[in-house]
Amino acid sequence: MGKKDIILTGIETNNLKGITINIKKNGINLIIGPSGSGKSSLAYDTVVAIGQHELSSMYADSIHEPEFKVESYSNMIVTIPIKQLNSNNNVRSTIGTYFSLSPCLAKIFSSLLDIPYDYFVLNKAENACPSCMGIGYRKQLDPNKIVNYDVTIADVPIRCWTRGKEFYKQILKRFCEEKKIDINKTFRELNEEERHDILYGISERKYGIKYSVGNRKSSRTTKYYGIMTETPMLKNFSPSDTFYSHILCETCGGEKYSQNHKEAKLCGFSIGELLLQPFDILFKWAENVNSEYSDSRVLFSLNQIKIFASKAIELNLGYLFLNRNIPSLSGGELQRLRLVQVFASQLSDMLIVLDEPTAGLSEIESKLVYDNIKALSRKHTLLIVDHHNMFYKDAASIIALGEGSGVNGGNLIDAKKYIQNQRNDFFLKPRPIHKMIHISLDNSVYNYNGVRLDLAYNCMNIISGPSGIGKSTLLREYFTQYFENYTYINQKPILGNSHSTVATDLNIFNKIVNLFAKEFKTEKSFFSNMVSANGACPKCFGTGVITYGSELQGQVSLICKECNGTGFNKKLAKYTILEKSILDIWKLTVDEAYDYFSKVNKDISNILQKAKELLLGHLQIGQLTSSLSGGENLRVKLLKSIKPSTLIYGIDEPFKGLNNEEIYKVAQFLSKMENEGKTIIVVDHEIQSFKYFSKHIILHNNNGILCDKIQTE
Ligand SMILES: [Zn+2]
Ligand SMILES: [Zn+2]
Repeated sequence: MGKKDIILTGIETNNLKGITINIKKNGINLIIGPSGSGKSSLAYDTVVAIGQHELSSMYADSIHEPEFKVESYSNMIVTIPIKQLNSNNNVRSTIGTYFSLSPCLAKIFSSLLDIPYDYFVLNKAENACPSCMGIGYRKQLDPNKIVNYDVTIADVPIRCWTRGKEFYKQILKRFCEEKKIDINKTFRELNEEERHDILYGISERKYGIKYSVGNRKSSRTTKYYGIMTETPMLKNFSPSDTFYSHILCETCGGEKYSQNHKEAKLCGFSIGELLLQPFDILFKWAENVNSEYSDSRVLFSLNQIKIFASKAIELNLGYLFLNRNIPSLSGGELQRLRLVQVFASQLSDMLIVLDEPTAGLSEIESKLVYDNIKALSRKHTLLIVDHHNMFYKDAASIIALGEGSGVNGGNLIDAKKYIQNQRNDFFLKPRPIHKMIHISLDNSVYNYNGVRLDLAYNCMNIISGPSGIGKSTLLREYFTQYFENYTYINQKPILGNSHSTVATDLNIFNKIVNLFAKEFKTEKSFFSNMVSANGACPKCFGTGVITYGSELQGQVSLICKECNGTGFNKKLAKYTILEKSILDIWKLTVDEAYDYFSKVNKDISNILQKAKELLLGHLQIGQLTSSLSGGENLRVKLLKSIKPSTLIYGIDEPFKGLNNEEIYKVAQFLSKMENEGKTIIVVDHEIQSFKYFSKHIILHNNNGILCDKIQTE
């Protein structure tokens, strides 16, 4: 007889429909189902919420009213959620401090060298490097962020020279005359030497420049100073932070400690040097210290470091080091480090809840993570949201949710049947390649020095490669710089006001309001729920929620009863088109709204059809976009970004968390974009998606140059 199962009955959190589940202790419990079917509602909003509620109610004075809805639960154990999300923005927070390894190092150094512990504490000003104040790097202007390659010199290709552009136009012209550079060429068309002159050059002579700012005439006499010299030619000029990248502090080389700390060495390394060593070297160092000193006072600290380092190496994170700051880690890297922490933990019998532990990993990395998760399940109980088929065979239980998403999801469905359906062979013929785009870039700011790759023009390209190699940086920073008419799309939430809804983001809000205004011959404002509009609910002023409490003591937002959360004045309920009022429409899903508008307005139904194709059919028209998942965010952003002027799309992990059928549908959508002349560059690891692409680029690092693997073979 094993341990008693964790049993939850009558779960009704979010869209879940009163389901009952059993979680097998000391085993892998898998949650699968289409996106939006309620997987995270079950794993995080219910199981984790219950675990944390139980624990906090034992020692906290006051606790929040729980938001999970269940009939009963039994045999719960301590619950640890590990999510694929990095929301840490503190640049001083490093792997060493975040995982409490820096104090271990300080203890070892102080004990074995008989120097006071305080000497090794970084947050003391006297211990920190005076140049960078213990941060380890400094900001440097980044040419990749500054230069617009497709603008002619005559039109000023330097992005931060916008204020006083007339001045820059003239001085650039004068300098180029001196250097014999053709100002009608774009920056891209210049040779290396000419590019260098413009960015780093200083003129021999001073130029007297007369220029106008608005109506005012102005003049200035100065030498030409390239932007990279960081010598301003106009008063009060300084580029904004967005044009900078981080580079190592020259004084301490990233060690963060002041120079005199270099003398306190233990087995060949000072504490600052150790913070920069990759985990494999750190591990060897800890073993050396162990055998050389065998001092019982530091045994525990040494062991903590050894366990952490060896597990990190095992999970393919051997390249990381203690000084690496947390905000710079990808969600996947941080999640794996948290797994390492669980391994190093002295706690046992916990319920560990994992969110897509293999998402964003290469196949080799996935296998490694999987083997480790299997090992963890001997000591703990695992609840995993993942669709990777490697989990199926060893799972103690599989909870499948469906049938559809949103209101059509939240039911338990037959797991075997669901898995069988996913094995169907979906097929889409990749478009033949006719033309290549050759990309060659140099840059020493990032952890690689340049890029050489060939992309298929007007085709779908997919880029994969080990995590941490710089795939997202390539899409987010290099390509943004390199291509005109380029848009980058990732899973981060859509920036906008906190009241933006699916309707506003899909650009159908105004269309719907206009439709009603026209039908009933009123002003638009009469049917709008925007804050100051006539149609807004008088109780919640159009927000649909009423907030109680103060910012200091915590706030609770409840749905406004007056308007049922729609934000519309309820008098609008009597104005209907085909039996539906604007309040009714706000409560429809995209699927339902599509059926409705097909009969009412083709313009709106066409937009909704595209949203359906992109797996957004379950979203509600009036749903706040702040409540969307990462994948939903990405797909809404993709829809929003489709316009004639954008020709090249960089899309970061569009398949993350999707099952095979959904991957096929998204690929189908991308392929339609390709037919309309777009070039698509995707970064993703989903093996099931590879077959849909014309070109698959596997990145590798060749002496600091990121290359397409095929070229070097
Ligand atoms: Zn420094
Ligand atoms: Zn209201």
